[in-house]
Amino acid sequence: MAGGSDERPGTGGERFELGPEWRWTPEQVRAFGQRVTELVVAHLASQPERPVFRPYPAAEADRSATEPAPRTGVSPDQVLGEFEERIEPYPFGNGHPRFWAWVNSPPTPIGAFAAALAAAMNPSVAGGNHAATHVERQVGGWLREMFGFPPGSMTLLTPGSSLATLTALAVARHAATEGRDRADGLQGRDAPLTLYVSDQTHSSVTKSAELLGLGPSAIRTIPTDERFRIRLDELDAAIAADRAAGLVPMAVVGTAGTVNTGAIDPLAGLVGACRRHGVWLHVDGAYGGPAILLDQFRAELEPIADADSLAVDPQKWMYVPVEVGAVLVRDGALMRDTFSLVPPYLRTGGADDPVAGPPWFSEFGFQQTRDFRALRVWMAMKEHGLDGYARALDHDVALAERLSAHVRATPELELLGEGLSIVCFRYRGTGPVGEADLDALNRRLLGRLQTGGEAFLSGTVLRDRFALRACIVNFRSMPADIDALVEAVLRLGWEVAAG
Ligand SMILES: *Cc1c(COP(=O)(O)O)cnc(C)c1O
Repeated sequence: MAGGSDERPGTGGERFELGPEWRWTPEQVRAFGQRVTELVVAHLASQPERPVFRPYPAAEADRSATEPAPRTGVSPDQVLGEFEERIEPYPFGNGHPRFWAWVNSPPTPIGAFAAALAAAMNPSVAGGNHAATHVERQVGGWLREMFGFPPGSMTLLTPGSSLATLTALAVARHAATEGRDRADGLQGRDAPLTLYVSDQTHSSVTKSAELLGLGPSAIRTIPTDERFRIRLDELDAAIAADRAAGLVPMAVVGTAGTVNTGAIDPLAGLVGACRRHGVWLHVDGAYGGPAILLDQFRAELEPIADADSLAVDPQKWMYVPVEVGAVLVRDGALMRDTFSLVPPYLRTGGADDPVAGPPWFSEFGFQQTRDFRALRVWMAMKEHGLDGYARALDHDVALAERLSAHVRATPELELLGEGLSIVCFRYRGTGPVGEADLDALNRRLLGRLQTGGEAFLSGTVLRDRFALRACIVNFRSMPADIDALVEAVLRLGWEVAAG
C-alpha cells in the first residue's frame, strides 16, 4: 500500500460475506437445472394440446405494470414458480403446430439448450482467442458457403436482419461516399445519395436508410409486377434519371422472399443492373434465403452469390431461437474500414496472437459486447445438416402448396398471392360482396381466428386488399393442421358474414 506500511489487508469482514444465493453449490445448480428441464419438457409437449394463443390476462398485465422492482430477493424456486404460473402459460403461439403468423418459427429443443449452454459460458464475442469467436467464424463461413460468397468476404451475426441490413447499407454508404462518410458524415454533401427498393421491401430498409442519414426522400420505391417482384425496367430508368440529375445511387435492395407473399425479385437481373450502373446490391434474404437449399428455388436464388451483401435470419427459416440474424459482405476489408476505430497500422491480422486472436468482430459492426448467438446456430446446423434443413424447408413448402390447393379448390376462398411457404388469401363467401366489405369481413374473421385458439395467422394488405396470410416456417405442422385451418376459416367467415 502507498506509504510503505507493511500491514497486509485483512482476510475477513462483512463486506466479503455474500449470501449463499451468490454461491450455488453444484447440487443446487443440478436440482434447479432439473426443474427447468422438466418445465421445458412440459412446455414443448403440452403446447399442441393448448389454444394456439390466448391474450395475457388483464390482471396479470396490470400486476406486471405496477409491481415495483424487488427490494429483497426470494428463493430461486419461488422465482421459477412464478415463471410457471405467470409466464409459461402465455406464449405468442409460435411453437404450436397451427401457428403461421409473421415469420416466427417454433423453438427446437437443441436451440433452447444451446441458449442455456452459451449463457453458462457467457463470453462476450467482441473478439479474442477463445472458442466462441471461432464458433462464430465457423458458422459465418458455413453461411458464406451456403450462398457462394467468395474468400475475402465476411459474416457477422447480428440480433436480426434489420440490423444486418443496417450494417450492410452502412458499408454501401462508405463505398458510395468513397470513405468520406467517416470524416464528415453526410454533412456538406451536395450530391445526395439515393436508395432503390420495391413496394414490397421490408420496413427495416426504410428504418436503416433513415438512421444512415438518407431520409425517406432519398428512397426510390420501384413498382412490382403481377407477382410482386421489382420491375427491372422501372429500376433502370430510376437509376439513370438520378445519375443524370447528379445524384449518387448508393444501393439497390432486392428481396429474396418478401415478407408479404414470399416473392423473389429477379436477382440475376438485379445483379446485371447493379453492375451496369456501378451500384451496390444488397439482398434481403431474411426469410427466404435458406430456400437456396431447395432444388425448387436454387436457380432463382443462386445470383445471391454475386450480390455485394446479404441479410439472412437463422432465427426464421432455420428455426434457431431468437435473436439471430446474419450479414454477409463480399468485401470484408471494406466492411472493416466502415466500422473500425482501430487505425489500419495497429490492426492485428492474424491468429498468431494468443490472446487477441483473429480480427475482432467489433471492428466489423456496431456492437462491442456481443452475444454468443453463434452457438445456437452451430448446434442446430450440426444437428440437422444442410440436408436435414432442406427436408424441413421442403415440408413447409409442401404444406403451403396444400393450403394453396385448398384455396383454389374452394369457391368461398380467393388466392391473393403466394410464394415460398407463404399463402395470402381471403374469404369471399358465395354472393357478390364489395371490396370494402370484404376487407372488413376478413379483418373481423382474422380477429376471431386469432383469439379463438384454433389456429393463428397474421394479415397483410396486397394492392389495397386485406389478406389473411399464412407463413409456414413450422416443422411441427402436419397436413391435418392445414385442413383444420381451412375449416376454421370457412366456418368463421360464414359466421362473420351472417353477422
Ligand atoms: C423479418 C424480416 C426482416 C426484418 O428482420 P428482423 O430479423 O426481424 O430484424 C426484413 N426483411 C424480411 C423479408 C423479413 O422477413
